[in-house]
Amino acid sequence: MLNKHFGIELVKTINQIEIDSSLPKDSIELKNKFSGKSITAIAAAYNSNDISSVEYGIWLKKLKLNPRIECFWWRLLNEAIPTNDFLMNCRILGHNSCPRGCEEREDTYHIMVHCHKLQQVIGILNKWGFTCPLFCSTKDCKYHLEKLSVHNRSLANLYYSLVYFSWKSRNSIKHGKNDWNSNFIAGNAISYASITSSNLFMDHWDTNQPSRMNYIWHPPPPEWIKVNLDAALTNNYNGGIGGVFRDSKGRFLLAFGIKCMH
Ligand SMILES: [Zn+2]
Repeated sequence: MLNKHFGIELVKTINQIEIDSSLPKDSIELKNKFSGKSITAIAAAYNSNDISSVEYGIWLKKLKLNPRIECFWWRLLNEAIPTNDFLMNCRILGHNSCPRGCEEREDTYHIMVHCHKLQQVIGILNKWGFTCPLFCSTKDCKYHLEKLSVHNRSLANLYYSLVYFSWKSRNSIKHGKNDWNSNFIAGNAISYASITSSNLFMDHWDTNQPSRMNYIWHPPPPEWIKVNLDAALTNNYNGGIGGVFRDSKGRFLLAFGIKCMH
């Protein structure tokens, strides 16, 4: 049968495999898993017997993240991301250090917690008034993210988006382009996180229009002035912001538009 389907060399190799009839029967494992993990990652997770048993899917799903961000995190939590360390272990790359020059092994921990760029962006977010957490280990990060995913979804979302954009920016270097500006990464993280949690960071802004009214413009209550703002950022530091002020009868009062650097 082997000779019918394989060449001489392969038949020789296959024949060298000893068959031990006392072992459980072989079965197809990968076919029905669709996990997105490479075989190396599955083997490593199985061997370390560490995180493979944790069901991340449940709390990630509940957050209703952007599908790309959810998929990225699922892979990150399952050690199935092609970090430089991963690539070196696969013998695709000759070193395992961070492409951003951190002089540190780039593994999941580095991507999720420790890269200097990620920490820089967290610093910016904190300066902007978001209490973005700094974790000290992968275990610490996973533990607190799982808790935050239940008790403070806005903050969990922010961290998920932040690491995702930090990774995208890191990939930009790998593809011969520049690392993104830290403000740009921070801005994107807030933007994506606020799409997912419509009440994000707005707890004390109780004049904000409820999100169910967002499809049509509504005038503000009597004696209020409504300001509609829009802003755009590009990754080369340019930005623009504009706004329109209207009164409770919807009458135009004032408008502005500014070009700026961010
Ligand atoms: Zn780094």
